[in-house]
Formats: sequence, structure tokens, C-alpha cells
Amino acid sequence: MKLNDLIKKIENKYPLNLAYDWDNVGLLVGDFENDIKKILITLEANEKVIDEAIENNVDLIVTHHPFIFRKINKINTKDLKGRLIHKLIKNDIALYSMHTNFDIAFDGLNDYFMEVMGFENSKILDVTNSATLYKVAVYVPLTHEIQVRKALGEAGAGYIGNYSHCTFNSQGIGTFRPEDNANPFIGKIGEIEEVKEVKIETIVPQKILQKTIDKMIKAHPYEEVAYDVYKLENKGQSVGLGRYASLNEQINLENLCEKIKVRLNMEHIRIVGDLNTKIKKVAVVTGAGSDMVSLAKSKNCDVIITGDVKYHEAQDALDMGMTIVDCGHFDTEDIFKDAIKRFLDRIENVEIIKSEVYLNPFKII
Ligand SMILES: [Zn+2]
Repeated sequence: MKLNDLIKKIENKYPLNLAYDWDNVGLLVGDFENDIKKILITLEANEKVIDEAIENNVDLIVTHHPFIFRKINKINTKDLKGRLIHKLIKNDIALYSMHTNFDIAFDGLNDYFMEVMGFENSKILDVTNSATLYKVAVYVPLTHEIQVRKALGEAGAGYIGNYSHCTFNSQGIGTFRPEDNANPFIGKIGEIEEVKEVKIETIVPQKILQKTIDKMIKAHPYEEVAYDVYKLENKGQSVGLGRYASLNEQINLENLCEKIKVRLNMEHIRIVGDLNTKIKKVAVVTGAGSDMVSLAKSKNCDVIITGDVKYHEAQDALDMGMTIVDCGHFDTEDIFKDAIKRFLDRIENVEIIKSEVYLNPFKII
């Protein structure tokens, strides 16, 4: 698959505009025209990861942490970052980073963390943006109008407030001429055909756009389906960083920590607060979320699970009676590989491999 086409699929689900302004996401190194057969996924790319990619004949590395973040003045082999960029280009390996856009997006890192932990019905902790809405219009012969409309509705399209399956339908005449090699559902090769068609229009949030189009095409009888997709200015569903959820059953902090250790495959965990604290509502911010302690408290959360908590932030949390589970930046984000693999595995004709390079810079002795 062309890198450009692959990126379209990724950004349809995880748009770059969800990322914070200070972030640096998207294709950071590479040629959009390159053919991608093998992808290596990793939390970040250092020299070992790049060597791993070279050994495995990888065409694209996908990272969570932006490979290029600070300003670069030169790209040469004496400079560390310059050497790595040079190595990537020399070996024709592209590099794509998806960072805060992946943290924020639906089915991104925070949602995946909630899923791994079994925390259901989560809400957004810090709303940063409103999701993009699209209008989808498809032209269908009258014989298949109901079938296609049903497929759109079942895919989740047409939600306006508390109303589902909302569409607008207008009839008209569709025309086409099947050319050589066509296999037309209606009409003959070389002859202009006129068909009574209905134009079905509906509204689709970005997160289910691809799924909706796939289902619509499947339900449509034509070999080549005529449809339009356009972005709307309407405000869509909110998106944001961090999640919070009420637990089905109350648990104490000690048991919650044991559960986290098992689910995230960790040996040690750092906490701020009392092990007997009763936990009914949890907040999660993958990576570094200690600046969201008060926000989590304001949502009546009993604990925030995050990483990178500093001494004074921990003291402040104690003072306000808030509990923190500090899993460390690495351990809340290493699940990136599983989260993005699940998405990329659905794309045909590309092989996805997870990096085996251990990247946590800290050791506990
Ligand atoms: Zn991070």
C-alpha cells in the first residue's frame, strides 16, 4: 500500500488536528509515494529500534512519542538525532508519530487503557475539542434504497441528539455508461443507462466514518458506488484527554493496585495515599497526568492513575485528600503497541510487527 493511502486511513481515525499545538505528529520522515509492506510499531524510536527495523526489512516505523520534537539545526552523522534521521533515509524507512492525537482520540491510548483495566462507560476527563462531523451522500437505485439506508443506520450514522437513523432522501435520475471490463448491475457495456435513484444523505461522526462507508458499499448493488463525503462545520461530539469512570463494585486502593500490576504486567507501583482508601470512581491519564489531579477530584474521582508524578504534586494531592497511582510514564504507555496494532491489523496487505526493544530508561533495584 502507498504510504499516502495508509496515512489517510490512519488520520481518518486519528486526525492530526486533535493533537496539542506544541506537539509534532504525522509523517516526520519519509516519502509519501513509497510502497509499505511492513510496519514496526514502538513507543519511541532510538537507534536500537531503527536497527531492528533495518534487520526486519521494515518500510515504516510508527511511534507514539514524536521522533522529532525539538528544533533541528543540522542533519549530519556527528549529531545523535541527525545520525538517526540519516540512517532512516539511507535505508528508505519512513517514520510516523501519533502522540497527543492518539491520546485524545476515541479508541486511542486512554480508551485502550480503560479497556485493558476493564473500566466501562468512561467519560472524558479534560475536553479539548469537538469531534469532526461528516455528511455522507450516496446514490442508490430505488430497488436497494431500504437496504442501504438500513446499513447506514446500523453502522451508527444519522445520530442527531437522541434521534438515530436520521437521513434525507431525494429522488432523481442517475446516468452512466458501462465501459469495457465493467460488470454492471444494470445496463449494457457501451450504452448510456438512465436509472431512477435516490440520494440518501446522513451525518456521520469521524470515528465511525470508515466503518459506515464500508457497510454502505457492502449493502449497495453497484460495482462502483457513487458517494460524496464532506466535512461539516457543525460542532460534533466532544473529545479530550484522560478518561474517568465509575466502577461496578467498590474496591480498596491495595486491590486496585494489584489489578493494575496484573493487567499492565508490572512488578512495582508507586502510590500517594492510604492503601485502605475506598475507590468507586477512577480517573486515568496515560503518560504524564499529574496536572490533572484537581480536575479528577472535581469529577469526584477517588484516584487518578497516571505517570510522572513529582514530589510537590504528590504533596499537594495528599493535602487535598486525593489518591494517586503512579505507574510511571513508560508502563501507562507501552500498551501503545497493542492499541495501534489492533487498528493497523485491519489494513490489508501490510504486515505489522511490534518492537522487542525494551525502552523504559528506569530500573528499580
Ligand atoms: Zn508519553
